[in-house]
Amino acid sequence: MDESPDERSDETPEFHIETDAIHAGQEPDADNGALMTPIYANSTYEQDGPGDHRGYEYSRTGNPTRTDLEENLAALEGGEYGRAFSSGMGAINTILNLLEAGDHVVAGDDVYGGTHRIFTQVYEDYDLEFDFVDTTDHDAVGDAMRESTELVWVETPTNPLMQVNDVGALADLAHAHDALCVVDNTFATPYLQRPLELGADVVSHSLTKYLGGHSDVVGGALITDDEELDEQIGFYQNSVGATPSPFDCFLVLRGTKTLPVRMDRHCENARTLAEWLADHDAVDEVYYPGLESHPQHELAAAQMDDFGGMLSFEFDGTLEQASTVVEETEVFTLAESLGGVESLIEQPAAMTHAAIPREERLAAGLTDGLIRVSVGVEHVADMKRDLQSAFDAALAE
Ligand SMILES: *Cc1c(COP(=O)(O)O)cnc(C)c1O
Repeated sequence: MDESPDERSDETPEFHIETDAIHAGQEPDADNGALMTPIYANSTYEQDGPGDHRGYEYSRTGNPTRTDLEENLAALEGGEYGRAFSSGMGAINTILNLLEAGDHVVAGDDVYGGTHRIFTQVYEDYDLEFDFVDTTDHDAVGDAMRESTELVWVETPTNPLMQVNDVGALADLAHAHDALCVVDNTFATPYLQRPLELGADVVSHSLTKYLGGHSDVVGGALITDDEELDEQIGFYQNSVGATPSPFDCFLVLRGTKTLPVRMDRHCENARTLAEWLADHDAVDEVYYPGLESHPQHELAAAQMDDFGGMLSFEFDGTLEQASTVVEETEVFTLAESLGGVESLIEQPAAMTHAAIPREERLAAGLTDGLIRVSVGVEHVADMKRDLQSAFDAALAE
């Protein structure tokens, strides 16, 4: 925040994250000097004798383009080991593969919808048990822990109300029960928050979002410092086979190079927009961890290096009027997902969270007028003008 990037990343072992983003895992080719990692479109590898290979046998198990991406992602998170997957859900599935029937999981009550779905609609059938609690309430988390609890699943900031969870405290709670603490770091990215440094055991990512950064690829990753855990993750990565294509790995590597510069602009634009919205007559509430009015602003300031590019706000109108707002914007495209260079807008009550019964949805703070935006890197003045004309159209109804 107020610290310069130099001060901020002093704890990084060798290079600052801006340098690792460009160089980690990406040596020029030893034979021909090519600067960029090639797309090794390749399924199998020559062996010098039976079983005598040069590091690669088969591309589900390992591929050089993927290796470069995995090393790059591990460096960004300040971790030893990285594994890439064909989607964020592929990564999350692999964490669940580590558990056994009868094991219990404690997760936030506002986790990503796909995470909630795989927990309850896939793995409950395999006799895993899940409790969803308010993870800002550490007593509630403590009360939910059982003898059989093997995993505490944490997201921060959360979707769409941008709740901030204390990774260090939740990791301590997990470890006191010999459970793993896994943090989905998709919203913050390692540029703003490094959960392994805060005590987490594994970091999970949807590379589809900020790390890819250009809305042109779907991918996932798991990063850890624990060699044994990484070996288990690698076993399931290879056994289940949700591995990314070399082309997808290339695209994410292209994205991570500019992660720091993109994130700086995402954060700056989001802060400017959050302040403008907070002062706006047509807006009731703004949820952005960078605002002092945010209930966990202090925690966010301590745990994160900046406050990110995601925010949501309550438009002071009906469900239909809020729908008009998201339909009328031009700079903001009406779409789910987040983290690309372009600004996106969506209405949780009518889209991502429409399946939740209205009373339940309102009780969770997801009002009819709630609008979520992924603030892109366009000029922020154009964003304000765009939102203002969409507000005007909605208010004229
Ligand atoms: C998108 C997302 C996922 C799932 O990732 P996919 O790449 O879509 O499979 C998981 N967690 C969070 C926080 C996400 O935003």
